[in-house]
Amino acid sequence: MLQRIKGLKTLFISFSTVTLVYFLMMESQAFWLKQIVIVEQLLVVFLAVVIVFASYFNRSRLAYLSLLWLLYYASIAFSPPWSTWLLQQGDWLTLFGCSVLLLFSLIKDRGVISIHGLYRLIAISLVAIISYVWLTMSEPIIIFVQTFPHIAGFSNVIRLELPLALCSMVIVWRAVIKADLVTSAVAISLLFWLCYQYQLIELPLSLTLALLSLYFVLVISVDAYFLAYRDDLTGLPSRRALNQLALSLGRKYTLAMLDIDHFKKFNDTYGHDIGDQVLKLVAKKIGNVKGGGKAFRYGGEEFTIVFTGKTLEQALTELEAVRQAIETYKIVIRQPQRKTKQQRNAKKVSKNSEFKTVNVTISIGVAVRESKQSFEQALKCADQALYKAKNKGRNNVSV
Ligand code: GH3
Ligand code: MG
Ligand code: MG
Repeated sequence: MLQRIKGLKTLFISFSTVTLVYFLMMESQAFWLKQIVIVEQLLVVFLAVVIVFASYFNRSRLAYLSLLWLLYYASIAFSPPWSTWLLQQGDWLTLFGCSVLLLFSLIKDRGVISIHGLYRLIAISLVAIISYVWLTMSEPIIIFVQTFPHIAGFSNVIRLELPLALCSMVIVWRAVIKADLVTSAVAISLLFWLCYQYQLIELPLSLTLALLSLYFVLVISVDAYFLAYRDDLTGLPSRRALNQLALSLGRKYTLAMLDIDHFKKFNDTYGHDIGDQVLKLVAKKIGNVKGGGKAFRYGGEEFTIVFTGKTLEQALTELEAVRQAIETYKIVIRQPQRKTKQQRNAKKVSKNSEFKTVNVTISIGVAVRESKQSFEQALKCADQALYKAKNKGRNNVSV
């Protein structure tokens, strides 16, 4: 559920950004049209740079998409021998574009120059052939549908509009459940493609492609940033982000080190996978810290919270709230159960039997940065306070 909300949010932000930039470009069209020759001349180079950039960051789907755009643009702009034929295949181009985007929404990013790259090129070619075959051979299906009076009215959309609608639904659904920027970029490309094919875009193709390429560069950069500064498991900023923040901290701040109690034993009892689930849920509670505290995953089952411009008392109140929230949190975990054949056959097996409730506690050490102390020294003091909290019997906040 959370993943879907995140997916909808990512899709909405991507859509809003692109729409906003599109309307800004529409507003400043007079300026852009004066520069159109330069844009046209540079577009091929620009798309080539996006292909290299996307490949370098292993965002192969965006690399293939840019390559296809480049081929399409070159076919129109440089009038090669096949361009006349290509431009006559309007329906095929529309369907092929949508089907390729469907393929991209279903597959993972893999290395471009590898065996996976070859598989993907074969898959793209197959999609092109299947789209062509469908458009030329769908006649018998249409005739068959027309024999049913109550659905005969739909027969005229079977050839093109129905596959387009189905592809679009799956692409949007994938963007929502995957909740990543690249799958959202695939959905945004679909919007561009359909609007372009149905002539709803008023900007010239070169400008539209320049805008789309810029968007791809933005997606790859933001993705690379998250990869470097976000912890993969918990979604919290990573230790690298903490080190980055340390460089910009003023003189007054309070640091807290948080550590899950007896987590090794927890892993030994429930297994590492459930340990991971719990770590994620506890991290979420820690991330919800109030009072302007910023949470980071320091490493393993240890977290750091930084309070800037807060007194020790204020920080202690917020940290005590976090400790209590975790102590009273009944964590529901999904336990993969091996069902017996009898259980599998019994339809009434309660779904709850796969869920279990567990509890964990955390210990917290707090230190206010003393004058002339470096960030590392302040962190060490917080670590010593954590050691005190553990010695006091765990599940408490110590200074
Ligand atoms: P204490 O109360 O003294 O902190 O005891 P502890 O067992 O939590 O402390 P210790 O540092 O000895 O063990 C930390 C354990 O945390 C070891 C490891 O199994 C577990 N752990 C660290 N990182 C992860 C992770 O990413 N996933 C899971 N599942 N476990 C982790
Ligand atoms: Mg530890
Ligand atoms: Mg621990």
